[in-house]
Amino acid sequence: MKKSLRELMKTAPVLGDGGYLIELERRGYVDSGSRREKVGTGRGSGQFTPEVAVQQPDALRELHREFLGAGSQVLQALTFFGTREKLNRAGYGAQTEAINIAAVKLAKEVAGDKALVAGSVSRTQLIEREGMGALKKAGDHIAEQIRILKDAGVDFLILETFFHLVEMKVALECAVASGLETVATMSFRPTIDVCSDGHPPAQCARVMADLGAVAVGANCEQGPEVMAPLLRSMREACNVPIAAQPAAFRTTAECQSFTRLPQFPDELETIQISRDEFVNFGKTARAEGIGFVGGCCGCNAAYIRATADGLAEAK
Ligand SMILES: [Zn+2]
Repeated sequence: MKKSLRELMKTAPVLGDGGYLIELERRGYVDSGSRREKVGTGRGSGQFTPEVAVQQPDALRELHREFLGAGSQVLQALTFFGTREKLNRAGYGAQTEAINIAAVKLAKEVAGDKALVAGSVSRTQLIEREGMGALKKAGDHIAEQIRILKDAGVDFLILETFFHLVEMKVALECAVASGLETVATMSFRPTIDVCSDGHPPAQCARVMADLGAVAVGANCEQGPEVMAPLLRSMREACNVPIAAQPAAFRTTAECQSFTRLPQFPDELETIQISRDEFVNFGKTARAEGIGFVGGCCGCNAAYIRATADGLAEAK
């Protein structure tokens, strides 16, 4: 039997993967919603839904293989933005079960006994679109997706790219109640100081740890160097391992989130961070005792391999 994530993190940093959607968008398989939907504003931003799992399974299978080859110990099923709410808006609501189940099946097929498979669950976008009154509805959609992912056989859950702590809390309660180990990571924008409902990273970390996450941290929006101080403040605030999945995009002092920059989503190549920064990220991660180390938007297998190199060099 495979060791659980919690067990693996006890001995060394666990290497994840990512990011799937931007990489598959660049390869022509994912719709960014560019020029059709309002993106980058925080209000109802673009499509980026995971129907590739049923439409182009070979493309997704291949990307999983690349991450596995780069050293990923965890493959994330591409179920990000896979709630019925988000899929409905993109026209795929009726395929909610099929998309989630297919994504888990593909990840498990490639992982075999070599890697754990995580179900990825993100925000519904209902809070940005409709406000806090939609929290109950958001929770119901997230609960449905978690049920589907558990039934499909994921080893654990990664709750990621939540902007509001209040939505993360609802999701995390549901995830923990499912009995699956759960990693919980918030995304901070436009700066790393507070999340969208005003809580600093340290407070987010405490709340997520108290709710039972096996690792807490941050993902997406900024590169490893910009993210580093927020991870440190999280580590000081709680006693569970820290999880980090930075993006590979350069941000500015005023705007530390790439999805708020004008280059999102059509000119991301112009703010790409080199993989060298991810070698350093791997070194820092080991030195600072980060438990789960992966990538997010802008990363591909080369970045994960660079992170693995950094982790190895720092041994
Ligand atoms: Zn991302």
